[in-house]
Amino acid sequence: MLAKGPPQVRQVGTSVFWDRARAQFHAAADLLHLDESCREVLGNCRRVVAVNCPVRMDNGIIHSFSGYRAQHSNHRGPFKGGIRYHPEASQEEIMALAMLMTWKCSVVNVPFGGGKGGIVCDPHQMTTGEIERLTRRYIKELLPVIGPETDIPAPDVNTNAQVMAWIHDTYAVEVGSTSLGVVTGKPISLGGSVGREDATSRGCFFTCLKALAMHDLTLEKARLVVQGFGNAGYHLARLWRQAGGKVLAVSTSRGGVYNGKGLDVEAAKEHYKEQGDLLNYKGGEQISNAELLTLECEVLCPAALESAITEANAADIRARIIAEAANGPTTAEADVILKEKGIFVIPDILANAGGVSVSYFEWVQGLTNFFWKEGDVHQRLKEIMDEAFDAVHDKSNRLSVTMREAAMALAVSRVAEAFKVRGLWP
Ligand code: NAD
Repeated sequence: MLAKGPPQVRQVGTSVFWDRARAQFHAAADLLHLDESCREVLGNCRRVVAVNCPVRMDNGIIHSFSGYRAQHSNHRGPFKGGIRYHPEASQEEIMALAMLMTWKCSVVNVPFGGGKGGIVCDPHQMTTGEIERLTRRYIKELLPVIGPETDIPAPDVNTNAQVMAWIHDTYAVEVGSTSLGVVTGKPISLGGSVGREDATSRGCFFTCLKALAMHDLTLEKARLVVQGFGNAGYHLARLWRQAGGKVLAVSTSRGGVYNGKGLDVEAAKEHYKEQGDLLNYKGGEQISNAELLTLECEVLCPAALESAITEANAADIRARIIAEAANGPTTAEADVILKEKGIFVIPDILANAGGVSVSYFEWVQGLTNFFWKEGDVHQRLKEIMDEAFDAVHDKSNRLSVTMREAAMALAVSRVAEAFKVRGLWP
């Protein structure tokens, strides 16, 4: 019996997120005086695959789940990007995220284009077996368009190293040979890279160090406030404290905790792990997420969801630097206010590009079957992040634009150049 499926595919072109991604691209294209042909090609996804994945649920009923893989650009290298499992995933959201991946890979100069995948499902309502069968069927459907030199998936919202292991196995069984380069974010036991787990935060940390130095601030004197205490937020707070900085506040979706003398990050993490939130954590005062965003600090790091900083709260922000570990945490309207206030923003495509940089390292290690030591991963990540920060900052100075506008201009110009020199066939 075929049960009622997940929500219908929404119409392409109606998504605010996709419209915003395109507007951001066209603003960069204006700055670069890109010609119309370049705008037409880079302003759209090269390919969007929509699939229906029938899965036998544990109760015997078959559900058909909608899934997508958007491939924005492969001008600089194979498509690269995560796969998310979410009830509100949509084709337009996946397209927007694929486009952002192109710019992110370009800004840190790793030889990938941009892709993204998603399945409309609620993994929290599914068993492990159901998630495994869904993953394997989705990959089977995508076989013609993915591969180690074609399109390389990775984890994203609600997917993890185990899901990547199933992707690797499904691909290997279907094509009849094993290739570690087909997916990144794999378990270490299956060719994953050391240093991948905290790579996004470590990369963000390196960009913060650069920004602090520019503002004549030292880490010891820099107070950090972090919204979101998951993978990105927790590791940044941990690295900050380990390096001698003070973490003033952290939060989860249910509220935050503040300590003017500095939080014990590990104790807060332990509490979060045990209780599922920071409520009743005794190592600081309870604060709301709204209060957290307006605390006086040197660095504010939104590391939760999109659109955390809006025109409603941007004017009240008292940070000198904002490091966007999250994707799209600042709305366009808020960006204008932050610029007027002179707040230095390290934009998402730069600040959180450490993750894809170490994914690139994992891919290289998998293709060569030669595995690096953790110190090598950290060192190479630092080189990539420092170089990217300097290049964006230099562009920002030369064009007299914000770091976000400069990062986009740099990223788009590299992809446009690759498009031009490759030319068209036929
Ligand atoms: P995660 O699921 O591990 O953690 C998210 C955290 O945010 C949780 O602590 C959650 O409670 C908190 N949160 C959710 N809504 C909140 C709200 N309204 N206010 C305050 N806190 C809230 O996710 P993650 O992997 O840390 O990702 C966080 C952000 O970083 C996302 O935007 C993601 O796209 C981006 N990012 C992550 C990586 C990575 O490698 N993890 C890479 C690039 C970008």
